Order: sequence, then C-alpha cells, then structure tokens
Amino acid sequence: MRNQRQVVDHALQRRALLAEVYAGRLGTMEVCDASPYLLRAAKFHGQPSGVTCPVCRKEPLTLVSWVYGDELKHLAGSARTADELTRMSTLFGEFRVYEVEVCRSCSWNHLVRSYVLGTGDLNDTGNRERSRRRTASE
Ligand SMILES: [Zn+2]
Repeated sequence: MRNQRQVVDHALQRRALLAEVYAGRLGTMEVCDASPYLLRAAKFHGQPSGVTCPVCRKEPLTLVSWVYGDELKHLAGSARTADELTRMSTLFGEFRVYEVEVCRSCSWNHLVRSYVLGTGDLNDTGNRERSRRRTASE
C-alpha cells in the first residue's frame, strides 16, 4: 500500500512474546486466543502472508487490516481488504490501519504494525484553524 504514514512497527513486542512462548514461560493457550470475530474477519477480509505461523508452523499467517478513525463513522472498527483500503485512502482525510496477523489453525494472533492512510486533507475546523494560525505567524 502506498502513502503509508506514521508507521508503528510491533515486531519487537511480537518477538519478545514469542520468546516467552518458546521458553515455556507463556502457554500457547494464552497467546493463541483469536476471537471467533477475528477468525471470521481473517476468512473473509484477510490476505495470506508469506510468513508461516511461528507457533504451530502448520500454515501461513493471514493478515487482517482493521480501520479506525473519526471520519470513518460506521466503518470504524471493521476489517477491510487491500482493495478497500486503497479506495478508502482516496475518500478519507486520515484513518489508522491496524494490521493483525492471525493463524487460522491455532489462533495465534498479534498486532504487526499500524499506519495512517488518507488524502491528508483534514476537514475539521481545528486543523484549518491551526494552519491559519501557522500562516499568520510566518
Ligand atoms: Zn498457528
């Protein structure tokens, strides 16, 4: 996806959590807890990643993208496909995408990263106000 902004990578947390699992300090029951809702989203809106599940190693992980943002209204908190994200990035000023990996075999799930998409045009008065003030002080 192009035009990703403010990318937050969660690879370190993921690695730390997996290290706990491999060391036996955390049971797979505790980390393989994808909800039926998340598993369903993976089935209908997910896209296969090239990464094999780090816990059960039975199948490639599925990536699910959840969208959040005030502008999205009823779409906020829903899972979207890559095509939908591309379309939405031209329709909305700004929204954040949370990319979660899910194993449909063992239910391992983890936040991979999040980023902001959108045209960058913020329509709320607060931002117009701020930019006007900035212009005035220049
Ligand atoms: Zn698995």
